[in-house]
Amino acid sequence: MTLFSSVELAPRDPILGLYETFNADSNPNKVNLGVGVYFTEEGKIPLLRAVQVAEKMILENPKARGYLPIEGIAAYNNGVQQLLFSSETEMTGAGRSASFETLGGTGALKVGADFLKRLKPNAKVAISDPSWENHRALFEGAGFEVVNYPYYDPTTRGVNFTEMKAYLSAMPADSIIVLHACCHNPTGADLSPAQWEEVVTICQEKKLIPFLDLAYQGFADGIFEDGLAVRLFTQSGLSFFIASSFSKSFSLYGERVGALSVVTQSKEETAKVVSQIKRVIRTNYSNPPTHGATIVATVLNDTALRNMWEQELMEMRDRIKAMRELLVTELKAAGANKDFEFIKVQRGMFSYTGLSKEQVDRLINEHSVYAVGTGRICVASLNTKNIKTVAQGIAAVL
Ligand code: PMP
Repeated sequence: MTLFSSVELAPRDPILGLYETFNADSNPNKVNLGVGVYFTEEGKIPLLRAVQVAEKMILENPKARGYLPIEGIAAYNNGVQQLLFSSETEMTGAGRSASFETLGGTGALKVGADFLKRLKPNAKVAISDPSWENHRALFEGAGFEVVNYPYYDPTTRGVNFTEMKAYLSAMPADSIIVLHACCHNPTGADLSPAQWEEVVTICQEKKLIPFLDLAYQGFADGIFEDGLAVRLFTQSGLSFFIASSFSKSFSLYGERVGALSVVTQSKEETAKVVSQIKRVIRTNYSNPPTHGATIVATVLNDTALRNMWEQELMEMRDRIKAMRELLVTELKAAGANKDFEFIKVQRGMFSYTGLSKEQVDRLINEHSVYAVGTGRICVASLNTKNIKTVAQGIAAVL
């Protein structure tokens, strides 16, 4: 017996595993729709113009890299607050909220989960069925029992709101409800404004703890529009959490820029919560890194750069929408014997195509078009050059 002899090989991450198989595929027309990354029409991860200008500004005024405060860069956290609560000056002025720079949206969820475990050790965590696959692992890793609330309805390709409401209403008080604030990953099916209002009411009446995952702000309708859920929960007077990510909206995946925000009842409460969350961060990674958050803070706090970024975000959003339209057209042209109009209604980077595991396997093996086994495709990986291959592949495996 040696120290590691009992260690078993962990299963491969399904999406990253797909990437390895894709790389080994010699078909020159191969297409990877598996990973959740935005690519340009040229098939590249964009380096945004606003980011390039900000980096130039940073280089022209180089700074030493001492440790940051535990909560990160203040100008960054203020920028996050602006994005979340721009129209809620009363609320932020009242000190009901605080933000922490974290290592991506994942880091925000992890810090929030660890804090909640100390606050509500016996709470259940409910995530949507289906959800981003890391939600379950993250909250289980923090020590919680994780359950799924009904969400996606494959027959309507929308949200099964009746069942979702019934399930949430039956959750015990103090349950933690993880909600995709917009651009649901993996289905692309979002709640309507009226449905959000109902969810807020349920959380109030049943004393549930909302945890909004906002990984795609700006990818559905716009920065302000996509913050609707945050505003509704804020106005309701509830205390809740928000995990923001700038991985996609700034195309800064590798810089790990995200934020955890809390909304409390008062300035006094915020101060206490902040002091406890700082303890969680301190024992996780001590304090966050400088570079990515400096870029984002520079952009968010400079009017011209902020406008430039919003323009680029709009270009990404519009390109995704154009690809949704074109995919539906190309599927028809390829003779697909199914109605795919729903792809236009779904929002964000992903589409649940309704393809079965067997159909996805055939799509990969016979057409070198790589998708996740659940039938999820990343619409943001489509471009005018690869879309025919994709549409013909899908039509052929139906
Ligand atoms: N939540 C959801 C729903 C996501 O899709 C992602 C990214 N795939 C994240 C959180 C994590 O974001 P980040 O890469 O910034 O950690």
